[in-house]
Amino acid sequence: MSLPAAEPENPKREKSAPQRAMEKLGLVRDIDLALHLPYRYEDETRIVSIASLRDGDNAQVEGTVRDAQVQFRPRRQLVVRMDDVSGGLLVLRFINFYPSHQKTLAAGHRVRVRGEVRGGFFGLEMVHPTFKAVEEDTPLATALTPVYPTSAALPQAYLRKAVASGVQRADLADFIPAELVPKGMTSLRESLRFLHHPTPDVSLAELEDKSHPAWQRLKFEELLAQQLSQLQSRRERDLQRAPAFEIKAGGLQEKLLAALPFALTPAQRRVVEEIAGDLQKDVPMHRLLQGDVGSGKTVVAALSAAIAIEAGWQCALMAPTEILAEQHFRKLIGWLTPLGVGLAWLTGSRKGKARKEMLAKVASGEAKLIVGTHAVIQDEVAFARLGLAVIDEQHRFGVQQRLTLRHKLAAQSLEPHMLMMSATPIPRTLAMTLFADLDISTIDELPPGRTPIVTKVFGDSKRDAVIERIRDEVEQGRQVYWVCPLIEESEKLDLQNATATHQQLCEALPGRVVGLLHGRMPAAEKAAVMSLFSSGEMAVLVSTTVIEVGVDVPNASLMVIEHAERFGLSQLHQLRGRVGRGSVASVCVLLYTGPLSDTGKSRLKAMAETTDGFEIARRDLDIRGPGEFLGARQSGAPLLRFADLATDEHLVKTARIAAERLLDRFPQAAEKHIQRWLGGRSEYLKA
Ligand code: ADP
Ligand code: MG
Repeated sequence: MSLPAAEPENPKREKSAPQRAMEKLGLVRDIDLALHLPYRYEDETRIVSIASLRDGDNAQVEGTVRDAQVQFRPRRQLVVRMDDVSGGLLVLRFINFYPSHQKTLAAGHRVRVRGEVRGGFFGLEMVHPTFKAVEEDTPLATALTPVYPTSAALPQAYLRKAVASGVQRADLADFIPAELVPKGMTSLRESLRFLHHPTPDVSLAELEDKSHPAWQRLKFEELLAQQLSQLQSRRERDLQRAPAFEIKAGGLQEKLLAALPFALTPAQRRVVEEIAGDLQKDVPMHRLLQGDVGSGKTVVAALSAAIAIEAGWQCALMAPTEILAEQHFRKLIGWLTPLGVGLAWLTGSRKGKARKEMLAKVASGEAKLIVGTHAVIQDEVAFARLGLAVIDEQHRFGVQQRLTLRHKLAAQSLEPHMLMMSATPIPRTLAMTLFADLDISTIDELPPGRTPIVTKVFGDSKRDAVIERIRDEVEQGRQVYWVCPLIEESEKLDLQNATATHQQLCEALPGRVVGLLHGRMPAAEKAAVMSLFSSGEMAVLVSTTVIEVGVDVPNASLMVIEHAERFGLSQLHQLRGRVGRGSVASVCVLLYTGPLSDTGKSRLKAMAETTDGFEIARRDLDIRGPGEFLGARQSGAPLLRFADLATDEHLVKTARIAAERLLDRFPQAAEKHIQRWLGGRSEYLKA
């Protein structure tokens, strides 16, 4: 039997725990280590006199131990008293200590000690300071001591050594020609050397707020890498060819418009035109359609599909969950079947003969519009002529799924156009940075006739009053959502919680249908519950899985969100968007269980103060940073580590211009720069 040539087992090469921890932090290459920068510094370059210490100082002193005792009150601790030539006295207190402590800190020994000074009962003291034995002439550090971001398994001292040798070994030559680097910035090598070991005369404030020229250089480099990778993917796409659709007067798109029960809003008309413009070109569209919940993105997708279908191509529409997909499917059947368009429906739960038939219709081209979950991109699904792919709620698809889609689509000789839809608006600076490879269309108004949603925030104690309110609402023929939180650690707990609430509401509302929807129900059962609610037979729907509530029931006028403090801001906003879809005045009640954290408070406050999705997005960015908006882009993707989108907008712009020039004139330098900063991770940014 022949075995593939494998590396011989070598126990010596087994990785140590700190090595594995470094890998986890992405610190693999020398350059990764060199680019791993301190988040703060300790000043071990000077010694101050004990007499000059003040409460709250962070300081280093040197002197002689006068006495050291183990005391037992209030608990066992080592108490050391030391003084220096200034005549001041300092107490060192160790709750945890070892014999080695006692050895170094014995009476008469000379020690150097650093820590935070507190005014204690017996004068000034330091609790758990760092210390070492010194001689009269032991030299001081000449640079600030870096403190690196690390994890529990990776000791600071180990990481410091690793970074220092990384900086030594890594190639730190400037790849970017000097003319493209903004004036006043130091070279990369100089900047890195400085930031790892700044001289003590530097302003700590400039280091901390990253306004120092060395930091500016690093941020610029980082932003440049990120702009380059986006620009590169945009240019790669521009080289690809897509079918150019011809738009004929009196075609399917016009017929659909005429058949709709409403007129488009001006914003919808504008975005449809932007999309139509792209679809008539032979370059693949890569457009993000953003619009607040309820702004009417589905009809825009349908009109785009109509253009592709009229031109003789197929369109795929993907939604993140079966319920959403089914809701789209129903709506689209209603709009398009009367116009003679063949639709197909593909989800993971659809199996056997029905699935085979659908697959055959997709392959033959009989099905023009294929709606479904990510089952649509599974291997066995072959399209006859896919011309347009629409991804709804794009941020909820995983990176892997989006990469699969890209690869699958790349198999055709002509790339399909791509339209991504999202209800989470992206703030402008983010759009300029992490989504720079996308064109963006925005629906910035809601269809007319909507009554604004009133949001109320109540503590748990108001639960009974809220249930009363539900009774009133139901009396008037309206419908109600009750959302229970997703407790990620335990689906079981979710279920208990939701089941109890369901029970309580059933009892409080005799003679009404109260339904329960949760993640572990079989798809068919979920669909049955949803259709009862959509048809109006069910008065109240209790749901655990937030995700499944992406539905459109205009008669629903009240939403209660239990444990609202556990949801993210944009999640709350999305949920709230499920009511207020008809003309009746709608209410969203956020029930919380105290005590609230500061961020919890600001989230609920934001919800109560505004219903504007852009404002919500802006506040969300303030509260929690860019993660939320990146959706899947964040996992595996190198987020900006150094640049701060709130303060570095000007650098983003500079990097953007430099990226174009670099790619045009120095493509090899551009490639090297991307490799240095992003390594193998840049593909994720393009997904
Ligand atoms: P979302 O942008 O959240 O996906 P939908 O596409 O589900 O929103 O639209 C929300 C509701 O508004 C749907 O019932 C839809 O039919 C309706 N709608 C969309 N556009 C208009 C319009 N221009 N006038 C009136 N109602 C509209
Ligand atoms: Mg939608």
